[in-house]
Amino acid sequence: MRKLSFWRDTEREQIQAINEAATELDILQSNTQLTHERVEALRRHVVAQRSEIVQLKAALQAVCDLLVDLDLIEAEALGYRIDAAVADGTAAAAQATPPPTTPFNSPAAAPPVMASEATCSRCRRDVPARDISFTDGGPMCEGCVGALAAESE
Ligand SMILES: [Zn+2]
Repeated sequence: MRKLSFWRDTEREQIQAINEAATELDILQSNTQLTHERVEALRRHVVAQRSEIVQLKAALQAVCDLLVDLDLIEAEALGYRIDAAVADGTAAAAQATPPPTTPFNSPAAAPPVMASEATCSRCRRDVPARDISFTDGGPMCEGCVGALAAESE
């Protein structure tokens, strides 16, 4: 939006300046409208995703309940597995999208997200929870489960 100087204050200049200002205002108004529409679209997206997450949680809960009810896995073991999978997923997501760095946001090393671990009841080693099997003798690593199976044969 340009400003008129005192000495060039003719009627023609005034009309031109007013029209330029009106055009700029039109552009700004349509940009604002566009931004409003984009925000509204994002809001609808968030609402849709929220209800989808609720449905997914309900479905996952039903599957977990079924697995436990059918004695396919103990609730505790299932909890272990799910925690391990969630921790792995969080770690992968953190690596995929590093936080944006600005001069005010010094790139301090983020603490590594540890995948949950479990201790083998036979050899006492800490192994990733997803590699643990729950046996009559307690949680065991794959190596010990194999060795135990070989012993019992
Ligand atoms: Zn072991």
